[in-house]
Amino acid sequence: MSGRAYDEVMELALRRGFYFPSCEIYDGAPAGFWDYGPLGNALKNRYVEAWRRYVVRYDGMVELDGSVIMAKDVFVASGHLESFADPITRCLRCGSVFRADRLLQEKTGKIVPERLPDSEIYAMILREGVRCPSCGGELSEVTRFNMMFRVSVGGEGAEAYLRPETCQSLFIDFLRVYKIGWSRFPLPLCQFGKSFRNEISPRQGLLRLREFYQAEVEVLFDPEDDLDERRWARLKDHRLRLAHDGESVTEITAEEAVREGLVPMRIEAYYLALIQRFYEIIGIDRTRIRLRRLGEDEKPFYARESWDLEVQTSLGWVELVACNYRGDYDLSGHMRVSGKDLTAYNRGRKFVPHVFELSMGVDRSVYVLLEHNLTSDGRRRVLRLPPFLAPVQVAVLPLVDRDGLPEKAMEVYEALRIDFDAVYEADDTIGKRYRMLDEIGVPFCVTVDYQTLQDDTVTVRDRDTTRQERVPVSELKAWLSRALSYPDVR
Ligand SMILES: [Zn+2]
Repeated sequence: MSGRAYDEVMELALRRGFYFPSCEIYDGAPAGFWDYGPLGNALKNRYVEAWRRYVVRYDGMVELDGSVIMAKDVFVASGHLESFADPITRCLRCGSVFRADRLLQEKTGKIVPERLPDSEIYAMILREGVRCPSCGGELSEVTRFNMMFRVSVGGEGAEAYLRPETCQSLFIDFLRVYKIGWSRFPLPLCQFGKSFRNEISPRQGLLRLREFYQAEVEVLFDPEDDLDERRWARLKDHRLRLAHDGESVTEITAEEAVREGLVPMRIEAYYLALIQRFYEIIGIDRTRIRLRRLGEDEKPFYARESWDLEVQTSLGWVELVACNYRGDYDLSGHMRVSGKDLTAYNRGRKFVPHVFELSMGVDRSVYVLLEHNLTSDGRRRVLRLPPFLAPVQVAVLPLVDRDGLPEKAMEVYEALRIDFDAVYEADDTIGKRYRMLDEIGVPFCVTVDYQTLQDDTVTVRDRDTTRQERVPVSELKAWLSRALSYPDVR
């Protein structure tokens, strides 16, 4: 499965250094690991900063940063040791291993729920006549493969795992966070960091990785309390794009969605609105966003209700955020295995907090930002990222590489380079430089020309309109700060 836009993004990513395969100078390096180059790393960091602004601080969340390696007991309690496993099948001739559900999906074009019993998936393989894609051989019965990476710690080799999701430390750290004073509910905890999943056949660049970034929000709440009015008032009028019956989408305010029972609880509707709005602000076309409620056999094993925030791409709809009502599954599980009391008090009543989760895939989001914003009109290829997300914010260029212009341009660059992500470009003709800078999404190009030497003004060229404005050098910093600022959303 591939799309033209996907191929264009990949070509740009490799040629300009947004991202590329990890360990690429070695043959046989495992698939599913990618490195961010200078531009991709900067874009990822800006995306995370936007998340901190429009999700974390907007809502008053508490951000933590937990360990990547965690004790085995964590995953006994979370159920991952037992249930976090993909259905696999092995070729009886060449020995290749495949995700059974994906092979079926490719053959039939229909989604095969990975939680179907193994025997049923195998029966479907036989019925559909699915064979090994590499050699055409017969496929084995379906078994389960646990996706966690096991590690052994210290000389004694204590059993531990790389976390398959960032949220577990938020559940485990809850007791301490609660004790040191964050004791008002709902209590939204969050974390940005790496997770690890031993996928059977990772493909499609940043869309399916074995090592990846997540930004997760776990809202701990008292199920007997409704969402507070202050939060609700902020987003109850935001129009959710709820998908149902396959393709059709209903636009309905969060408040109406709750009233009509499409979303059971206010707290769910509020956080769904929060996350949908975030993607709208950062430049994803809202008509290509949908919130899809998952069926019983699609939901993760820990969830009572699930929605996926999906975005349309050249590869089809891609899940960017998993939104799960996890009930008291997590804290009850950790109480049972650890023997610690993880109950809390609210209005004088003791309770086990419930959890509503927003689990965002960061790398996928970076990919979608690139695909949705890379445009071409035949003449010009432009990466139209919102200026506040641009990896390089400003380029300084001497019009020509002589007559004292490079020296003056370098002076302008030196004055900007600490406050902005700036580059200095003097090679090639001015037209070629503009084209290169357009392609990597630089929103503003500052050009030093002969007039600069007379009146100390420069031209600032806008990437999207190509219009140029004359700005005094003394006002350049303030001008750029304004042009690169975040959209004001209350
Ligand atoms: Zn084979």
